[in-house]
Amino acid sequence: MAELEVSVYCYWNGCIKYGREGVYYEGPAPKKIIVNPKIALNRLLDEMYVLTGVDVDKQRSKVKIFGRYPSVVGQSKFQYLLLPVVNNSSLETMLEVPSKHPSVKIVELYLEVKSEGVTGPAACSSKRQKTVKVERDSSTGNIGDAAVDADMTDNVSGSNAVAQVVNLAGDKELNSGVPKPCLSSLWLDDHDLRVGLCFKDADELKKAVDWCSIKGMQKCVVRETGTDECMFECIKWRCKWSLGAAKMEKHGLFEIIKYNGPHTCSPIEPENSNSEFEADEIERLVRRHPTLSFSELKKWWKANIGYELQTWEVRAAKEEAIKRAFGDQSFEDLPKLMTALCSSNGLLVDWKYDLFPNPKFASFCGVFWAFPQSVQGFQHCRPLILVDTKELKGKHQLKLMIASGVDAADYYFPLAFAVTKEVSSDTWRWFLTNIKEKVTQRKGLCLISSPHPDILSVRSQWKEPWAYHRFCLKQFSSQFCRDFSELESLLEQAGETGQKEEFETHMERIKKENPEARRWLDQIPPNQWALVHDGGRRYGYMDIDTTSLFAVCRGFELADHAVTGSVMLLFDELRNRFDDLSHFSRGSLNSGHVYTKPVTDKLEEFRTATVTYIVMPLDNNAFKVAEPAQNDEWIVQLSECTCTCGEFQSYKFPCLHALAVCKQLKINPLQYVDNCYTFERSYKTYAATFSPVPELAAWPEASGVPRLFPPVIPPPPPPPSKVSGKSQSKATPKTNNKKS
Ligand SMILES: [Zn+2]
Ligand SMILES: [Zn+2]
Repeated sequence: MAELEVSVYCYWNGCIKYGREGVYYEGPAPKKIIVNPKIALNRLLDEMYVLTGVDVDKQRSKVKIFGRYPSVVGQSKFQYLLLPVVNNSSLETMLEVPSKHPSVKIVELYLEVKSEGVTGPAACSSKRQKTVKVERDSSTGNIGDAAVDADMTDNVSGSNAVAQVVNLAGDKELNSGVPKPCLSSLWLDDHDLRVGLCFKDADELKKAVDWCSIKGMQKCVVRETGTDECMFECIKWRCKWSLGAAKMEKHGLFEIIKYNGPHTCSPIEPENSNSEFEADEIERLVRRHPTLSFSELKKWWKANIGYELQTWEVRAAKEEAIKRAFGDQSFEDLPKLMTALCSSNGLLVDWKYDLFPNPKFASFCGVFWAFPQSVQGFQHCRPLILVDTKELKGKHQLKLMIASGVDAADYYFPLAFAVTKEVSSDTWRWFLTNIKEKVTQRKGLCLISSPHPDILSVRSQWKEPWAYHRFCLKQFSSQFCRDFSELESLLEQAGETGQKEEFETHMERIKKENPEARRWLDQIPPNQWALVHDGGRRYGYMDIDTTSLFAVCRGFELADHAVTGSVMLLFDELRNRFDDLSHFSRGSLNSGHVYTKPVTDKLEEFRTATVTYIVMPLDNNAFKVAEPAQNDEWIVQLSECTCTCGEFQSYKFPCLHALAVCKQLKINPLQYVDNCYTFERSYKTYAATFSPVPELAAWPEASGVPRLFPPVIPPPPPPPSKVSGKSQSKATPKTNNKKS
């Protein structure tokens, strides 16, 4: 069946009026066109332009079309409403009128060319009958108490495509039980939303807002829904998009009474939707409260958003949030953060800065910090400290310094940190002195470091028997290789072996291959780099595994090397680590585990070994352990805790040969295991708890530290002067090492 064509009257050059029956047009006689009811809006527009002579190219965007839409108010009685024709859907609604209401034979369309500064007929807003509380409280996102003026109109939207159902009937008629117009299910876009737009009910309104959001790939939430009012906000708190609507007693419709749009946020790709939302919400919280722990954030999320987040999700969201909120390279917040950590958690801090002529200001040189929780835990670790430095990327070329112990399970135990503008012998002296004064006064410590001359020049502070200085073999080897790279593997074998004979053999070979290399080596005490001469100070630690050592500092990369943000993330990592490992060691203790993995692995290796050891007693409480299949022989001295394989004395728990002796003698080998490998120690190491840090607004002022500016990076040295003479005297800034 062919569709019936529709007669359309086009009116223009007049004005829209409102009468007893609603809207009508006053002006020149209309022109008639016949159209197919499915005609597209742009085709109809073309026809209307031809008809009316409106300049299409210049004025198309300023043209508005309204339809006169009949709304049944009684038996074959209509109230005429003004329906904006903004798209094919609303046009179709108009062109369907004759088929729905046979008494209406002709569709009437009013053409308006908007002139600048004059508001179209659709912009009138119904007076509200009562005060509705819809003002957004910016800090909480909740509906606050401030009332909005009922006439408040949207001054943000500059859109021409106004979609609005204007109810032009008088109050009396509407309030006398007549059916309500239901025309608001239009295809709306975000820019169509505006103050004065009416909807049948809250549900229609919500559908319209939801549809706009879905199309714009934005998300909104209803902040409050009453029976008579509701408020929508963008889920992105930084985007100020919001929409408030209320049911008007005057016409019984839901009318938009407040609108802030369009969205200033960028569309959310569906696949990133959750993580973006999480990072965003966490950021809102973190800006206010940057030191909430992962578990505090998880709790907050559950209570406020409603679903559970995993720790890794919270961590990712927080890292992103800290980067956004504290990722700038300034140093101004840093003293405040350190002071907050100090007052809440007793953080030990020491600043280095160069004062400006006005001593209220200074340029940052360095900051040392250590948590007392680490200091306390270190008492239960073996007496071993590893130190290292790392270049930080970022424009200030800062260096990160770390001191770490080793816990019962052979994991690094972060002890102290520093960020400095440079690493020099002065910096090392400052760092090591701080460790000695603030972190540990234990005697017999072993310090493993790089063999860099800057450290060597200050090691007088770390002398035996207070401390034993050892080199990271890898770094020692790379120093050696600058001159003797062909001997690298020989040197490393000599350094790593725990057996005297093997060491001597390697050293002889080095001498044979390059006597100069051997002379170079002979200048350095072998106990600093060779395990066999170590005397058990290193607990077998030959190299510093830089990646693991700095793992706790991963925040420095994540926060773009901005110190304040990085320290916040480091605090998170540290707390999280303490939390995890204290739970783990407590659980291990409760389930009957006594020794950590390095020891249990060795015991298990012995238990399942297929090798037969032959143990023969020698003089002086020594035993020869033979392994006939390998044609190997080892001498175990139980009372000395040594074995010629080197392992027993290095790791401080029995090697396979010592275990064989114990088995033969039927004695308990555990008496030869160093207590540093117990879960008891592990539990004590991580037992200290961290206290919550208050909100940013409640942080105390940093007293005693001037306002800090980025470090002054010295310019590259000038080319050598051709004329010899007096060197220019330079005014050097006074260095102030403030202790706190
Ligand atoms: Zn938005
Ligand atoms: Zn052995």
